[in-house]
Amino acid sequence: MKIKKNSVVAITYTLKNDGGEILDSSVGKESLYYLHGNGNLVIGLEEELENKAKGDKFSVAVPAEKGYGNVDPKLVQTVPLSAFGTNKVEVGMQFHAEGQGGPVVVTISEVIGDQVKVDGNHPLAGVTLNFDIIVDEVREATAEEIAHGHVHGPGGHHHH
Ligand code: ZN
Repeated sequence: MKIKKNSVVAITYTLKNDGGEILDSSVGKESLYYLHGNGNLVIGLEEELENKAKGDKFSVAVPAEKGYGNVDPKLVQTVPLSAFGTNKVEVGMQFHAEGQGGPVVVTISEVIGDQVKVDGNHPLAGVTLNFDIIVDEVREATAEEIAHGHVHGPGGHHHH
């Protein structure tokens, strides 16, 4: 069967940036299971998976607009080092902060003297996502999976 809305799909994936650096990969691990057409993967990847079938292999370059979005400069703020109290502050450290729409993950992107730049953009914002994909399995979703918007059973997760 071909992948369509509400198919349960298992994929093996490798994600690289434009420099060829591997950012994430499921090779040698369990396949990633997801419910197609429900926004569980970035839209640019779901579009490419549409109508593919078990055994298909492909590569796709997903632009940032169809991935994790473009970098929003408004989400980068400079705060005084003293705001961190006695906590260690290093570039690359991530922590939770209160955003307008609830908790967000922010990353320390730069430390200049006693000023700290914190970035609330997704770590992959502005990045072209180069995926190598193998479709491992396609099946129909159960009514319960469709109602919940995610996959149950092997490779899936459940919560009550
Ligand atoms: Zn569920």
